[in-house]
Amino acid sequence: MTTSIKSDQLNSWLDSNLKTFIIAGPCSVESEEQINKTAEGLAAIQVPVLRGGIWKPRTRPGSFTGLGNVGIQWLADAARAHGMKSAVEVANAKHVEDCLKAGIDIFWIGARSTVSPFVVQEIADALKGVDIPVMVKNPINPDIELWIGAIERIHNAGINKIAAIHRGFSQYEKNTYRNTPNWNIPLELKRLIPNLPVICDPSHICGSIELIPHVSQKAMDLNFDGLMLEAHYDPRFAMSDKDQQLTPLALSELIETLIIRNTDSQNVEFKDQLIRLRKAIDKIDYEVLELLASRSKLVNEIGLYKKENNITIFQPERWSEIVNTRKKYGKEIHLSEEMILDLVKLIHRESISVQTKVMQDE
Ligand code: PEP
Ligand code: MN
Repeated sequence: MTTSIKSDQLNSWLDSNLKTFIIAGPCSVESEEQINKTAEGLAAIQVPVLRGGIWKPRTRPGSFTGLGNVGIQWLADAARAHGMKSAVEVANAKHVEDCLKAGIDIFWIGARSTVSPFVVQEIADALKGVDIPVMVKNPINPDIELWIGAIERIHNAGINKIAAIHRGFSQYEKNTYRNTPNWNIPLELKRLIPNLPVICDPSHICGSIELIPHVSQKAMDLNFDGLMLEAHYDPRFAMSDKDQQLTPLALSELIETLIIRNTDSQNVEFKDQLIRLRKAIDKIDYEVLELLASRSKLVNEIGLYKKENNITIFQPERWSEIVNTRKKYGKEIHLSEEMILDLVKLIHRESISVQTKVMQDE
């Protein structure tokens, strides 16, 4: 996969006196008093950007859909009065136009909009000729192409102050998270567009405040460039997402405890040790690849044998036996079940494809 975005076309624009870039504020702007009290609490802990939802994309009808236009000016004024920048989610051209009029400083595109190239293109067209930072949340489905596509559309409109926001992905079965993080997806995005700042949104990943410190720290450990966190001066009365909003005090405690890791070290002893360990890992990786090549030869041989004897490629009992025995052995040698399952599925998929080719060759 490639992307049309060259890293040097992006400006780094996340600016903060805190140990990492933080954007915080309520899920929704609810009243002038609410946004001002929240801004006051966040400015006191030096949060540089105040977020607030004005038009809320609600999954089911009947819940609070945001204040609409009346709230935009309250948010812009509250941010300015407290020396902060303001950020709003925009989902169509009219939102862009109204926010620009009110003097909003930063836009973001929500997860439900990123899934739709029509919506993103409409926003991109409205942004032509405008110099404003835009943050693009991941789509609700775990599709990195859609995420990159949305970033490219915004970039093609002439915006070069862009950041991505990782807010997790929807799933059918509810698990620990409101939205499963799938950390490999934002990490892959970072690999493909190295200079693109990637911020994590632990509030929408977690859905409740308990896990937020853990997810925030994990984002720092993985070298994310900042955090977007929902905060409300009194979350008990929040009109949307009340379980996942922090008070400014809780947010300041979270920031206090965050450990920021370096990306590199000048310590010679550390570097030598790292090189030694990486060399050992490289050697093992090549051994693993050679073993996979030997395995593939046997798979090919079995394919020919099955063909000669007119036997199906897929055999459910053999597949269950492979899964069960590998899982059991993996456990004995302390490998995670998740990893073993992913690995055997990948190997099996390749075997099926090798044998299908053998079977279909004349
Ligand atoms: C939000 O940030 O309030 C929001 C609606 O987020 P998402 O688009 O990630 O669901
Ligand atoms: Mn929210």
